[in-house]
Amino acid sequence: MNTAPQQSPTLSLVVPMFNEEETVPVFYRRAVAALETTGVPFELVFVDDGSRDGTFEALRSIATQDPRVKVVRFSRNFGHQTAVTAGLHYARGAAVAVIDGDLQDPPEFVPRLFEKWREGYEVVYAVRRTRKEHALKRAAYRVFYRLLRRLSYVDIPLDAGDFAIMDRRVVDELNAMPERNRFVRGIRAWVGFRQVGLEYDREPRFAGESKYPLSKLLKLAYDGVISYSFVPLRMVTHLGFVISLTAFALVLYLVALRILYGERLITGWTSTVVVILFLGGIQLLSLGILGEYVGRIFDEVKRRPLYVVRETIGLEPAAAKWRTELSEEAPAVRAARGA
Ligand code: UDP
Ligand code: MG
Repeated sequence: MNTAPQQSPTLSLVVPMFNEEETVPVFYRRAVAALETTGVPFELVFVDDGSRDGTFEALRSIATQDPRVKVVRFSRNFGHQTAVTAGLHYARGAAVAVIDGDLQDPPEFVPRLFEKWREGYEVVYAVRRTRKEHALKRAAYRVFYRLLRRLSYVDIPLDAGDFAIMDRRVVDELNAMPERNRFVRGIRAWVGFRQVGLEYDREPRFAGESKYPLSKLLKLAYDGVISYSFVPLRMVTHLGFVISLTAFALVLYLVALRILYGERLITGWTSTVVVILFLGGIQLLSLGILGEYVGRIFDEVKRRPLYVVRETIGLEPAAAKWRTELSEEAPAVRAARGA
């Protein structure tokens, strides 16, 4: 099928997959059909993010039939953003597209992104015109993207996820970034170049459930805000100012009352307790905000690799410094296991 397997492909498609065994064959068929319309050589880089179902076996079976299919298998679940990052490390295309593996992002849209890239844009991101999810979840997304935009010091486009195509130069820049916190749409916006959005309609999931429970979504939201904004820290400072000024004014007022009128403060247990609780709350909140930043510093300075690869199919070891490849199981060990 592939006439020149050694040649670098023009277009790479990076696809994170976590427990998507039912979707793999359908995704593969639709993606290949869509990419073939571009008429350029392409590759599919699947990242199996530690799936516990048959996802890897499904990927392996298509990879053995089609040399354009490459697979990276993690040693455990490292998370969606990390899977995308690994895919970007391994992809070799002149243009690299990132797409969800659950068919919520239609593969048929990739050729349109590719056309726009050919016009000279280095980043073409897909903007969700519509979503087919719970009203509550939709509302949460809306609020989050608007909040992030207000708070962030980089210009992160509204309602754009990771579904995008990027020029080789942008991918190289992303791969060179030392940070462990991979909020892909954030670093992608940060690198700059010519960026443009194209609108699309987000589909419902093909099969299975969302792999983003509320806890993971919250983590993503925190990562987005903390990594791209100093506003929370500044809010703490401002709060401190306001409270100190208020306290100072109150002291002046009370002392003046005392001196001028000899009045004593009306004693009250309730008011005292309210003030103490209020201040205690503010202090804990501020500590928490500080902690969010400090925790991320801790995470960054440990310098652990971002992910561990268990095995790959059809790939040269990536030259990425954030990757550790597990050594092949020795034949003797495998034999002893009877495998
Ligand atoms: N995914 C992943 N690792 C994870 C969670 C999700 O690789 O820990 C993949 C998942 O298989 C899918 C994509 O990332 O291809 C988007 O995830 P999902 O559809 O669950 O997120 P949602 O669309 O609900 O935001
Ligand atoms: Mg999805």
